[in-house]
Amino acid sequence: MNETTQPPVHEAIALERRYVLQTYRRPDFVLVHGEGVRLFDEKGRAYLDAVAGIAVNALGYGDPEIVTALRVAAEGLIHVSNLYHTEPQARLAQALVECSFADRVFFCNSGTEAVEAALKFARKYAREHYGAYKTQFVAFTHSFHGRTMGALSTTATEKYRAPFEPLVPGVHFVPFNDLRAAQEVITDRVCGVLVEPIQGEGGVHLATAEFLQGLRALCTERGALLIFDEIQCGLGRSGTLWAHEPSGVSPDIMTLAKPLAGGLPMGAVLMTQAVADVMAPGDHGSTFAAGPLVCQVAQVVLRRVSAPSFLAEVRAKGEYLATRLTQHIRPHRLVRDVRGRGLMWGIECDVEALTVVNTAYRYGLLVCAAGTHVVRLLPPLIITRPEIDEMVDKLAATLADVAQEMVA
Ligand SMILES: *Cc1c(COP(=O)(O)O)cnc(C)c1O
Repeated sequence: MNETTQPPVHEAIALERRYVLQTYRRPDFVLVHGEGVRLFDEKGRAYLDAVAGIAVNALGYGDPEIVTALRVAAEGLIHVSNLYHTEPQARLAQALVECSFADRVFFCNSGTEAVEAALKFARKYAREHYGAYKTQFVAFTHSFHGRTMGALSTTATEKYRAPFEPLVPGVHFVPFNDLRAAQEVITDRVCGVLVEPIQGEGGVHLATAEFLQGLRALCTERGALLIFDEIQCGLGRSGTLWAHEPSGVSPDIMTLAKPLAGGLPMGAVLMTQAVADVMAPGDHGSTFAAGPLVCQVAQVVLRRVSAPSFLAEVRAKGEYLATRLTQHIRPHRLVRDVRGRGLMWGIECDVEALTVVNTAYRYGLLVCAAGTHVVRLLPPLIITRPEIDEMVDKLAATLADVAQEMVA
């Protein structure tokens, strides 16, 4: 075949294929710019972004307040060690405590690190209060808590786990939302119960209020810490600041990350004073965590997404999106279920989610998969109603194409 008949491959794509570890299958465009809920590729083509950096870019692209905070912070200290006091970190911790159940915060750099820290805190808490025998964890089917060894040990997906075994022993998986099964497994040997109030990667499954309430009661009774992983569903994504709020129960520990610092890497572990009391200087740490720059930006994000008017808008737009999905997506013959809350939705399909993801590119729509058969919508929380209409229309057109191409 004549080489000139091949479309030229952008240099960034060629270099990626040659030099980057191939742990992602990327589409063949290069993103260069963003504005609001839209991304633009190297050819100037626009994409309506319903991925938002996987629930990271809550305020979209080019938010003036974030850009200014970054610029100002860059003129000051970017990083100093956690060996020293810095003001933005202290103020961010105060803000997180004041808007949550928590008394104290530990900072890190990613979701998996936050989970890793939470597991360690639960281990130490159990050891100090009960003894060395209480080391097990309980997690749930379809859970996703991260990729490092500890967090991976509590992640249910077999495909992510199997190549790296043996993992941390003593983790039990219980069917999600099955309180009776949880009751069997949460014994006095369990130190921590880890649950996403709305599961993300595993397919957008919502924990019922009764389930979270039941877990709270079981954990209190058996002396296990209840750990809510709100890395994806927290910080306004579900229409309330915390996804567990509607259940009326509080955890002992909560992990945060994704949207926390406006696209900069940051994780946080929020905890009660009782948990904090078992941790002493030197017990855990992080070189990069919560430097002045990242904390300045995170303060902006937290203030914005925790504002009651902002959250009311997310709720209202979430209800609007729910209606649109019910009208235009649920009836499609390839669609088995539509579920979610706020601006976090899963569309379970009869076809592989990746087929839908890949077909959506032709309509300039970015969506991602959650598990094998669920298409996930996580638009920036600043999305407008006309943009929601556009997102749903593009998704409907995509599904129509997928259905037609199956017949052909
Ligand atoms: C993304 C995610 C993680 C892992 O976060 P990373 O920053 O990718 O390490 C953990 N838990 C949940 C619920 C997540 O969605």
